[in-house]
Amino acid sequence: MSALLYKMGVCDLGIEWFTAVQHGSNLRKGENAVEFKTLFPILKKYLADDADVPYFFRELMAMITTVTEEEWGSSKDPSTKTKDETLRTYAKRGISQKLAKAIVYRLTPEILVERINEKSETVRNLLASDLHGYDASLNAENVAEQIAAWIVEIVQTRAGLIQQSELEKQKQKQAEAGLRNQYGYYLLNEVGHYCPFPGCGRPLTVSKDGKAADAYCVSVIDKKKAPEVRNLLALCPQCYATYSIDGDPKVSKELLNVKKILETRAQSLSLIDDLPLEKGIIRAIGKIKKLNEKDLADASLDPKEIKQKLRPADNIALYHTISFYVTTYFVKIKEIMINLDKRGEIDYEEVQDQMKAIYRRLKKAKKTNIEIFNEIVAKIHRISLQEDIYCQIVVSYFVQSCEVFDAITE
Ligand SMILES: [Zn+2]
Repeated sequence: MSALLYKMGVCDLGIEWFTAVQHGSNLRKGENAVEFKTLFPILKKYLADDADVPYFFRELMAMITTVTEEEWGSSKDPSTKTKDETLRTYAKRGISQKLAKAIVYRLTPEILVERINEKSETVRNLLASDLHGYDASLNAENVAEQIAAWIVEIVQTRAGLIQQSELEKQKQKQAEAGLRNQYGYYLLNEVGHYCPFPGCGRPLTVSKDGKAADAYCVSVIDKKKAPEVRNLLALCPQCYATYSIDGDPKVSKELLNVKKILETRAQSLSLIDDLPLEKGIIRAIGKIKKLNEKDLADASLDPKEIKQKLRPADNIALYHTISFYVTTYFVKIKEIMINLDKRGEIDYEEVQDQMKAIYRRLKKAKKTNIEIFNEIVAKIHRISLQEDIYCQIVVSYFVQSCEVFDAITE
């Protein structure tokens, strides 16, 4: 349930949480560290008193993470659920390190905040007073966010990450704000306004009550190197918070790969941005979208030429994608193009020349076939705002009709 809610509603319900994490404003460090075994029964008492321990444990997990039970890694056989007995142990002694590691980058504290804040003020006041021993300033207003912050801290610590001191936090916050000020806009565009952390994908611009707000932080990728733009990445505040205390070189390698992909994409974009493409292509895509099964069944084509341009061994997925689209659509698209050309709605010859020019430019920049294919798809998408799948069909058409990809020369 939480994954669904998260996908549906994060734009709205995450905003307070994320601005709080981003600015470190509402989240005070508790006076004493709270343990999972302390929090669990208190949460259970106010969120689901009549449920049994394993049931509520699963409920709680659904509130704090998008990781499903099959991925917890607590059972040897991934198809079976974790034993109730194990969950009782987790509730009593804290979650295992393995489980903490599995969920640490997929936490959804904003969902937990929302669930707690759905409770009445009376309930939230009782919850706050049960936790006064750990933080005397808790009240109905702030208890949800503080509990979420504690849970995040518990999971991070259990996963082996070391919490920063207040001074370290302060210093890092300042450095981050400076980088965000300087490079934020560029980096936000680079990632297309979604968190690029593998498995996350949270929107980095959130809206509430008609107002839009940025909810992202600028992270240094390789912490041993200088914070220059090639070593920076925009992340959601939650991924940022966890990554900033994570020293695992595997994770930073993963993020460096992400950055590389983003840079390649940005380079290709600027590479062909100035090349024109007939707006009539939008018309053609509109007609392609209307083709039904019967239209297509009568007009299939055996795409012999594809084999002369693409080696299945180089990229089997690209080869099959293009072959399939050509087989299914080529004859009909040619008809559409010729008809639009006759009516003066597209200059077909011009489009062919433009496609060739775009292909040459990308080829000259030594892009791989799949990069070339994706870049042209992206360009058509930007011009037409049509779904990628139709843009792929169009590019496949131009592969077969010889504007994209040269014949392989042995
Ligand atoms: Zn994220």
